[in-house]
Amino acid sequence: ALILGLESSCDDSAVALVTSDRRILAQRVVGQNQAHAPFGGVVPEIAARAHVEVLPGLVREVLDDAGIALGEVDAVAATAGPGLIGGVMVGLLTAKGLALASGKPLVAVNHLEGHALSPRLVDPALGFPYLLLLASGGHCQLLEVRGVGDYRRLATTIDDAAGEAFDKAAKLLGLPYPGGPAIEGLAREGDAKAVPLPRPLVGSPEPHFSFAGLKSAVQRAVTAGTHRPADIAASFQQAVVDCFVDRTRRALAQSDAPTLVVAGGVAANSAVRSALQGLAQEQGRAFSVPPGWLCTDNAAMIAWAGAERFAAGLVDGLDAPARARWPLDEGAEAVRGAGV
Ligand code: ATP
Ligand code: FE
Repeated sequence: ALILGLESSCDDSAVALVTSDRRILAQRVVGQNQAHAPFGGVVPEIAARAHVEVLPGLVREVLDDAGIALGEVDAVAATAGPGLIGGVMVGLLTAKGLALASGKPLVAVNHLEGHALSPRLVDPALGFPYLLLLASGGHCQLLEVRGVGDYRRLATTIDDAAGEAFDKAAKLLGLPYPGGPAIEGLAREGDAKAVPLPRPLVGSPEPHFSFAGLKSAVQRAVTAGTHRPADIAASFQQAVVDCFVDRTRRALAQSDAPTLVVAGGVAANSAVRSALQGLAQEQGRAFSVPPGWLCTDNAAMIAWAGAERFAAGLVDGLDAPARARWPLDEGAEAVRGAGV
C-alpha cells in the first residue's frame, strides 16, 4: 500500500510518501526555528499559522517528487496528537480534506506511535515485542511494544522529558534551540568527569526518570562560573546517559523482549546511541535505533505508522478528534479501569 503522511504536532511541518514495503518515495521537513528564535521557545500560535502556510505546498511537492497522483494513494495518515493542539488541528484537517477529495481512508496516528514504530521502517528484522526507550522533547518513557496499538508502559518521567532537559540545559549555557544537537556538539570539546552532577532516581527500584534536579544542578554550575561551558555540557550529557542506562537496565529486568530499541529526538545523540547499544550487548539483547533524521520529528514515521495501522485494518472516520494529550497505552488503561 501507498501511504501519504502529514506531521504538524510541534514546530516541524512534514509530509512523506511511504510504501508498506518500506520504500520512502519522497519526503520534506520544514522547521520553524527562525520564527520562534526571538521568543526562546516554540510559540504555539505562531507554529499553527506556519503549518497553515507550509503544509499544502509540501503535499504538492512530495506528490510531484514521487510522480504520484493523489488518487493513487491508498490512505492519508496524519498526526492527531499528542502535541500543540493548533498545529495538530491544521495537519489533521489538511489530511481530512485530502481523504475527502481522494475518497481514501484517513488514518489518525498517535505521534508517539510514529516514534515507537519508526525503527521498523528501516529495520525489517525488528519484530514484536521490543523494549523501547522513547526519549523526545515531550516524553521519556520505557514501553514494551507488543504490536501495532499494543503498548505496556513500564516507566515515565516524574518531571521533565529528556529532550526538555537538553533544551533547558542548552538555554542555561546560552546555546540555541533545539538544545540537543548544540549540547552534543559542545560536549565533544569537554570533559564528562569535570563537573559533578546528580543522576536522579538511579538505583531506585522502579525504572522511572527524573531530570528537574539535574537541570537545577546545571544552573548552579553555570552560575558558579568556575567550569568551562564545554565541561558542563559533557558532564550533563553523561549524566543523562547514565540515567538512561540504569533505568533501562531496570526495565529490561521486567521484560523478556529480545530487542532493545531507542527512538525519539534524543535517540539522535551518538553518546546515547552507543551507551544503549552497550547495555543491549551486556544484557544479551539485540539492538535497533533509527538513523538520526528518523529520530527527530518527520512525516516518514507518521506515514509508516499509518501503513502499519492500515495493514491492520485500523482506519478512522472523518470525525477523528485532534488531541493535545493522548497516552500510548491508553487502551490498556481503559481495560485495567474496567477491572479486566
Ligand atoms: P514529542 O515527540 O515528545 O511530542 P517533540 O516531537 O517535540 O516531542 P522530538 O522531535 O521527537 O520531540 O525530539 C526533539 C527533542 O530531541 C528536542 O528536545 C531536542 O533537543 C532533542 N534532540 C534532538 N537532537 C538531539 C541530540 N543530538 N542530542 C540530544 N537531544 C537531541
Ligand atoms: Fe516527536
